[in-house]
Amino acid sequence: MKCPRCGNRFGVRDSRPGGTVLKHKMSQPLMDWAREKVGWWTMSDWVVRQRVCQGCGFSQRTLEIFEEDFEKLIRSGPSDVEE
Ligand SMILES: [Zn+2]
Repeated sequence: MKCPRCGNRFGVRDSRPGGTVLKHKMSQPLMDWAREKVGWWTMSDWVVRQRVCQGCGFSQRTLEIFEEDFEKLIRSGPSDVEE
């Protein structure tokens, strides 16, 4: 993945699969964010990553889920949107 700000490569600083029991508090915000986004949908079938641009230091999170879950989530959309 490339940085949307400067086009340099994103490096992975932290990577956690769902259901990980943390030994360090460092990854807690990352895990909490992922659980908030997809924890209601699937308990442990995801991987969250903290990525940092090697050029400008811009930081982004990415969330990986199974294609089936992704398709369903895209189709269902945000829960606050009216049908
Ligand atoms: Zn950058």
